[in-house]
Amino acid sequence: PEAITVQELANRMAEKGADLVKSLFKMGVMVTVNQTIDQDTAELLVEEFGHNITRVSESDVDIDHTVDVDDEATLKVRPPVVTIMGHVDHGKTSLLDALRGTDVVKGEAGGITQHIGAYQIRAKGGDLVTFLDTPGHEAFTEMRMRGANVTDIVILVVAGDDGLMPQTIEAINHTKAAGVPMIVAITKSDKPEYKPQKIRERLLEHEIVVEAMSGDVQDVEVSAKTGAGLDELIEKILLQAELLELRANPDRAAEATVVEAKLDKGKGPLATVLITRGTLKVGDIFVVGVHSGRVRALHDDKGRQIKSAPPALPVEVLGLSGVPMAGDTLTVVDNEARAREVAAFRAEQATAKRTTSAPTNLENMFSALA
Ligand code: GDP
Ligand code: MG
Repeated sequence: PEAITVQELANRMAEKGADLVKSLFKMGVMVTVNQTIDQDTAELLVEEFGHNITRVSESDVDIDHTVDVDDEATLKVRPPVVTIMGHVDHGKTSLLDALRGTDVVKGEAGGITQHIGAYQIRAKGGDLVTFLDTPGHEAFTEMRMRGANVTDIVILVVAGDDGLMPQTIEAINHTKAAGVPMIVAITKSDKPEYKPQKIRERLLEHEIVVEAMSGDVQDVEVSAKTGAGLDELIEKILLQAELLELRANPDRAAEATVVEAKLDKGKGPLATVLITRGTLKVGDIFVVGVHSGRVRALHDDKGRQIKSAPPALPVEVLGLSGVPMAGDTLTVVDNEARAREVAAFRAEQATAKRTTSAPTNLENMFSALA
């Protein structure tokens, strides 16, 4: 995935950088002319200004195996990866917790919930769904800026006793920019002030026509408190996933995306990764961001040690040489020499990127807007 600075894009379009910043601001993307935006956002912007799009081909550097596409015959159905977005206090965390509680595997021996940045549930029918446990559009945008498009489906949470709020609009814009399908969850249905129809009508103003208004965006009334509508929400996620035909090759060297990483006093650097293809196994040698390592242990979201992790499973990885960043790619390689080579290449790329993107602060944001 390509990233481009706002100024560079402005130059290519022969427009003023400040005009692009203003448009981005309206789309809910707060950047200065010196910062990078991802390809999807850039495309939206280009369309907005009435220009034509010519996509630059994928990087010719095959270091991340980005170019080696898996053969059609090797692809198997994989679970969807879902992100929950919405305004503060509208019930994102409550909904994540409630959905986690619907896991049919929950309560089995050894199952102690671990917050590792993502979790997977097994629904009643046996299907798996992965949820990113970092609600909010910041994590979503941050990951996308770093070129990681791990989310297949966004659940837009709107409190039915409130309305569309600034962060709701931002979430809508981010989801549109990412081209990710959305399911609207109108939550807090247990409250006496609950008015879901009002929400549906307000969504029309943002060109979101939900099913209940004869549109094609799925919507569902839920309560994290009583559990009402949760099964229906999961059904809708699975339906959407089927339409997306999500598939990956599980029988190859693994690739994964870092969801969360930290330094643990006892265990050293830890990263929660989401497998994007292949199967990650204990003993695998890998590169992750500018670091490398060998998988010493894998833990699932219930704290259990596992030997291997298939596509869409979030796992905590032990055995890293350093702490990577959210959005970094973990790539399994053949040997340690190759791991060092790739890590060095990535470090070089990261340095090049840093020199082209300036830090955000309010002052330069406003001067850019002026
Ligand atoms: P977040 O900021 O979007 O993560 O929102 P939270 O999940 O922290 O919820 C904000 C507040 O709304 C908390 O006080 C929750 O207890 C409450 N809340 C969330 N979901 C529901 C619900 O379905 N019904 C009711 N009655 N309250 C809810
Ligand atoms: Mg929260």
